[in-house]
Formats: sequence, structure tokens, C-alpha cells
Amino acid sequence: MGTVEFTPGQHEKEAITAHVIWMTTGLSCDGDSVAMTSATSPSLEDIILGVIPGMPKVVVHNPVLAFENGQDFMQAWYDAEEGKLDPFVLVMEGSVPNEEINGEGHWAAMGTDPSTGQPITTNEWIDRLAPKAAAVVALGTCATYGGIPAMKNNPTGAMGLPDYLGWRWRSSAGIPIVCVPGCPTQPDNTTETLLYLVLQLAGMAPMIDLDDALRPKWLFGRTAHESCNRAAFYEHGDFATEYGSDHRCLVKLGCKGPVVKCNVPLRGWQSGIGGCPNVGGICMACTMPGFPDKYMPFMDEARNAKGSTTLARFTYGPLLRTFRNRSISKVYDKEPGWRKPGRALQSGYSPRW
Ligand code: SF4
Ligand code: SF4
Repeated sequence: MGTVEFTPGQHEKEAITAHVIWMTTGLSCDGDSVAMTSATSPSLEDIILGVIPGMPKVVVHNPVLAFENGQDFMQAWYDAEEGKLDPFVLVMEGSVPNEEINGEGHWAAMGTDPSTGQPITTNEWIDRLAPKAAAVVALGTCATYGGIPAMKNNPTGAMGLPDYLGWRWRSSAGIPIVCVPGCPTQPDNTTETLLYLVLQLAGMAPMIDLDDALRPKWLFGRTAHESCNRAAFYEHGDFATEYGSDHRCLVKLGCKGPVVKCNVPLRGWQSGIGGCPNVGGICMACTMPGFPDKYMPFMDEARNAKGSTTLARFTYGPLLRTFRNRSISKVYDKEPGWRKPGRALQSGYSPRW
């Protein structure tokens, strides 16, 4: 990686080689790259080996995964800038600092400009590469909306890529910035979005369908709550008041799932396993544009949840539970009455002969 060659699929429609220039030099922890290595649907290996029918050849340049270093690694960045890697997808990981307020230093950079001997800042790389990119992906909540480095009172002026380039920005191929938030991004959401864009660039998929926050709609159309395996316990007013509950809803412990667009409870974290509230951890809204400030303190019940939890707990929740349990024990947890031995057929079936 760094430069990993992806072999073309068997039914390649258009012979393109798509490059992925993956910047991790925003303000971030590289967590999205690390998480992506555990993707399974599709896996990084699937993409590298080109096992998906029809996919074009792809080459990924990622500093976290690269074998190369120094100038050998940086060459792809210069080639992309000179238009030698066409088409390429620019992936941005980490929030974008504001270099206009960096004092006498810089906030984030990669490589050295041979003409000045100075670091090439992350802002400058975005300015150089974004206009040449066929598609631009903001990966992780830092790159999409600013995330933790962009909290109130931060000194760097950090922001997400749409704030930096403009929410109406379009790539050279006419594609809006694609935001795939998460802290880190769910691994399969990363690989699936990249695969989609590569197929789109090869003319094999329609324009990617994004919502108002530039997220792929098919990934972020539901709330975490709508897919959580504890959701029925919310409806029943059955809430955990301490950690370790094996089934109850965690909203009283601070879960923000009802107002958070995220498919992790549905998709799991790795190989379909896990998924924050499914496995006992509150959803702290890490995919959301307002994260983290609008969801703090994380471990307190949200103010706007109190009305509905009180209602569920003291009115319809106990009623629902009582009637459902009664139906279950009296009707649905029992076999139909005709399943017993005897000489007479009691199932109600009447033979036609
Ligand atoms: S644990 Fe969170 S996401 Fe799950 S049902 Fe409760 S509030 Fe909704
Ligand atoms: S369920 Fe909540 S905490 Fe977990 S990944 Fe989704 S948004 Fe983040």
C-alpha cells in the first residue's frame, strides 16, 4: 500500500486505473485508516486483489499503510498535482486547521517544499490536489465536520473539509464532497464508499446519493436507535440505571441514539459483531455534525429525552409490557390445539376425497 496495485476485475467495462491519495495529515489520530484495515464488506484485501467483478484497477497511497517513505512515498502526491494520476480520489482524514492563524509556525504538514525548504501544510496540499481530484472524500468526523479538534475554544480554528472548501464545492467530475463520518468511521462504510466512487468513475454506477450533510444516504438514513437491539426496551419503558445491564435501554445513562444518524448498531463493528449500544456502550453521537459539543456531558441523559422516557416508563410502557407478556404466555408461546395424538384429525383440514 502506500502503493498497492489493485488488479482489474474480470468484467472491466472501462480500462481506468483509479488512484486513491489518502491524506492523514489533518488534525487526527489516523484512526480511520487503522479501523479500515478490519473491513470485511468489502475488505481491503478484496479491493487489493480485485476480486469484485467489474471493478477497475485501483492503487492506494496511504501514509499509515505505506511501505515507502520519504521522497518515494511523496512522489504520488506530486504526480497527482501534475495530473499524472488521473483519475484520483482524494481522501482527507483529520480536521483542517486554519493556517491563517498559525502564528509563526504551522499546525499540520507533510513533505518539504524543495524551493523554500519549508513544510507543505495540509491546507496547501488540499489547495493543490482538490481541484485535480475526480472525487473528494472527507473520512471520519474530524474531516467531515471538525470533530474533537474543532471543539469550542480550540486554538487551531479546526474545521471540516466542507467548511474549508465550501458545502457546494464540486470535484472536476462534478461530484460533491462525500462525507463519511464516525470516530472512527465504521470500516465497511469506508471501503464501500470508496468502491462505490471508483465504480462511479468507471461509469458503472450513478451519481452517489448524498443527504444534506453530504453523507451517503444508504449508510446514514436511519438513527442508531432505529437499529438498536435494545429499542424495544425503550418502548417498554425498561431503562438501565447502571452499567452492566444485559438488555435494557441505555438512554438514562446518556445514550443519544434516538437523535443520531448512524448504521453501526445495524452493521456491527467488525464482521457484523458489536455496535455500541448493542453491546452495552452508550451512543455518544460520534457521527454527527454537532459532535462533541452538542452532546455533552456524554454520560447524562439528554434533556430532550426526559419527556418521552418518563412517558414510556409510567404510562404506555408498563401497559405494553403487560399486554404483550399476557399475549405471549396465553397465545403465542403455545402450540395450536390440534397437535395431539388420537384417532380424529382435529386440524380443521377437510379432505376432498
Ligand atoms: S440504548 Fe440508545 S439506541 Fe438503544 S434503544 Fe436505548 S436509547 Fe435507543
Ligand atoms: S452508535 Fe453512536 S457512538 Fe457508536 S459509532 Fe454510531 S454514532 Fe458513534
